[in-house]
Amino acid sequence: MKVMKFGGTSVGKPERMHDVASLITRDNESKIVVLSALSGTTNALVAIGDALANGDKREAKQKIDALNEHYQNFINNLLSTDAAKEKCRTIIAEHFEFLNIILKISFNEALNKDILAQGELMSTKMFSCYLEEKGIKHALLPALDFMTIDSYDEPQVGTIKVKLSQLLNQHKDIQLFITQGYISRNAKGEVDNLKRGGSDYSASLIAAAINASVCEIWTDIDGMHNNDPRIVKKTVAIEQLSFDEAAELAYFGAKILHPASIWPAQHYNIHVKLLNTMQPDAKGTLIVEEAGSVGVKAVAAKDGIIAIKIKSSRMLLAYGFLRKVFEVFEKYRTSIDMITTSEVAVSVTIDNDTHLAEIIKELEPFGTIDIDKNMSIVSIVGNEIAKTENVLTKLFDSLSDVPVRMVSYGGSPHNISLLVPSDDRTKTLQVLNKGIFGLE
Ligand code: ASP
Ligand code: MG
Repeated sequence: MKVMKFGGTSVGKPERMHDVASLITRDNESKIVVLSALSGTTNALVAIGDALANGDKREAKQKIDALNEHYQNFINNLLSTDAAKEKCRTIIAEHFEFLNIILKISFNEALNKDILAQGELMSTKMFSCYLEEKGIKHALLPALDFMTIDSYDEPQVGTIKVKLSQLLNQHKDIQLFITQGYISRNAKGEVDNLKRGGSDYSASLIAAAINASVCEIWTDIDGMHNNDPRIVKKTVAIEQLSFDEAAELAYFGAKILHPASIWPAQHYNIHVKLLNTMQPDAKGTLIVEEAGSVGVKAVAAKDGIIAIKIKSSRMLLAYGFLRKVFEVFEKYRTSIDMITTSEVAVSVTIDNDTHLAEIIKELEPFGTIDIDKNMSIVSIVGNEIAKTENVLTKLFDSLSDVPVRMVSYGGSPHNISLLVPSDDRTKTLQVLNKGIFGLE
């Protein structure tokens, strides 16, 4: 059994949804198909929730109506018979009724999660209507019946496995299952989600839970590229990545894959393939345990980074200093991405500024604190990077015009990270494309 996940743009237009139906019926292997919401929908639902949180019911209502109109047109073009359209409209109407009821009651965070869940619920139901019209036998698996997160917001593969296999056992005659990405139930049994972009994570958790033959992530680009195709002109798809390399790339900026989606696949050793719905026969990128080749494979950038420098006032990095610094970050559940030290100072980066003020306040007794906001981490990722000929020379030669604030090398054999001002991020990716990959 395999898992095939399709993102928002792959189901974002009726004709794209038709393509998905052909892609999932190309072979006879039984499969679980995981769908995102139609592109734009989750953003619209976030905006509806924001309007309600601000008490602006008129704006929320306008946004709900606009979304409803979009879905009505979508259904019209997705389906051909009047009977199928009518049936689908009735199903979708329930979701809009639900959104309209929320307008009338007092808003809270749990309701907001209910709002966010509507996108995946609707996309899968509409897709199911289309499969039904086409006479393609399938079953809808409600993700809210098996995808759970614990009180730390962490999904547990073991629990998901038990629940999912019970559901699958109820449909022994079915080969094709459709389910929602992103949505889950939390420890309190409420509707929740795996955070933005979380459908990839759903797919990989499901693949781990059923011990899938492969977890295919279908998007609109032919795999992970050596650089950001939106920023540099010439990029090439990477054929094979190890789980470790893919995790670094996903975490440090490659938008194609949700960073958390690597660990379930890695832990349960499920092969992941990144494939292109527009070019279904292109090779894409294979992510497995082995890296396949040695050397630098890709660069990626992550914005919104904050650098914090703590210059010790008297103790020249006496023992225990780093522990005290780390404890402050631990206390506020804020993870550190990069770290560099000198004899008298330590610099760290974080990407979450929720508790920045409290963190600074608690660090102040240790020495002088400097904060740099609007920074970007540029990561150079590969396998045994040090074995790439002259890697550091190439790197620093290309960076001669970039004000690099931090460098981290040697923490893992797969990564060199640089911290640069976000204003220089584009230039950095461009010069590295030439300097390291010889691409303009
Ligand atoms: N629909 C959700 C989002 O837009 C989840 C996903 O597509 O992965 O974030
Ligand atoms: Mg995505």
